[in-house]
Amino acid sequence: MRLILLGVGQAGGKIVDRFLQYEQQTNQDFIVGTVALNTARADLRGLEHIPDRRRHLFGQTEVNGHGVGADNELATRLTVEDAQELIRATDDIPTSKADAFLVVAGLGGGTGSGAAPVIARELDRIYAQPIYGLGILPGTDEGSIYTYNAARSFQTFIDEVDNLLLFDNDAWMQSGEDVTSAYDSMNEKLVRRLSVIFNAGEVSGSDAVGESVVDSSEIINTLKGGGVTTIGFASSELPDDSSSGFSIRGLLGSSTPKPDEVEAVSRITTAARRAARGRLTLPADLSSTERALVVVSGPPAWLSRKGIEQSSQWLEEETTSMEIRGGDDPQPSSKYVSVAGLFSGVTDIPRLKQLQQQAMETDEWQENRDEVSEENLETLVEDPTDRLDSLF
Ligand code: GDP
Repeated sequence: MRLILLGVGQAGGKIVDRFLQYEQQTNQDFIVGTVALNTARADLRGLEHIPDRRRHLFGQTEVNGHGVGADNELATRLTVEDAQELIRATDDIPTSKADAFLVVAGLGGGTGSGAAPVIARELDRIYAQPIYGLGILPGTDEGSIYTYNAARSFQTFIDEVDNLLLFDNDAWMQSGEDVTSAYDSMNEKLVRRLSVIFNAGEVSGSDAVGESVVDSSEIINTLKGGGVTTIGFASSELPDDSSSGFSIRGLLGSSTPKPDEVEAVSRITTAARRAARGRLTLPADLSSTERALVVVSGPPAWLSRKGIEQSSQWLEEETTSMEIRGGDDPQPSSKYVSVAGLFSGVTDIPRLKQLQQQAMETDEWQENRDEVSEENLETLVEDPTDRLDSLF
């Protein structure tokens, strides 16, 4: 599936940067173009792979390149004001070659949180392709303002995109871990998962023939209908001689015997169970899934159709959804068989309930605080004898 990626704010920019790095490292080819949008000049400078001409600073007249702090309302306003110019950032990208757009942002901060929903709305107004969102939820220990911002951004973003894919920092951050290296490792894991899905159907090279290759319409149909999507993933390393042997065999026209069918099936079905029952990008009860897609990636000889079918059947029981799609993504030089599951339309998500509850409490607290501080200020300034006159 060919994508245009827009990274908004610091987290959004870094994740899109990571997508480009991963695409280069793995010789994949599903990114049509990338754009980074930010109100903070320093964050744009910190990017390594997004080309300079695709990095856009906005809101300069008001914040002068220093960012919006955690003020997502300000970011929303600045984006609305600069919307047309921001969308022009996609002008030199061959947008007709893309199957979809993906707008990526941290929902707990300021710029990404406030700007991403506006960007998504503008893209939707102009382009016919689906607009997807990828939102990062803050960790619970990041403080109330992050939770509050994320809850409001989530509520706005989900209405502006055709589907919202979520990643929960809280579920992935390990206690005591250094934040910068934790982000690096979380971004790598997120990008790896999504790349298996999005690269499906974009394989070039005659040796890369799968048995039932996923095409972009299957991804689009899985994400159709909106709502929230979470992603599961598992991989198993192949015996040493496997990948090199099979890719050579692929080049020679598959003359050597295939791996044992029972083993190939079992590797896929085991990985599919681990993908669904292991840690999801956003923890959720998968029995509330509406539609799912399972993509099995690895050297072509290991991509057993039977394994994929059995995994899809198992997922149908596990999710109680009748709409499970499955297919493969041949990666001749890979040393792994990997399974990525896209679980779309999930509704039973305790973390989102918790986030909304905490945000409502923060809202209530802010209202009380404003009233109390107004009263306190009045008491402080009040002159009981009424003798002092103001200067003007
Ligand atoms: P903005 O630049 O104002 O949009 O703010 P950020 O993008 O820094 O958003 C802050 C939120 O994003 C917080 O909840 C952070 O935990 C999270 N965040 C920042 N950088 C990263 C990152 O590289 N990876 C992940 N997963 N989360 C990040």
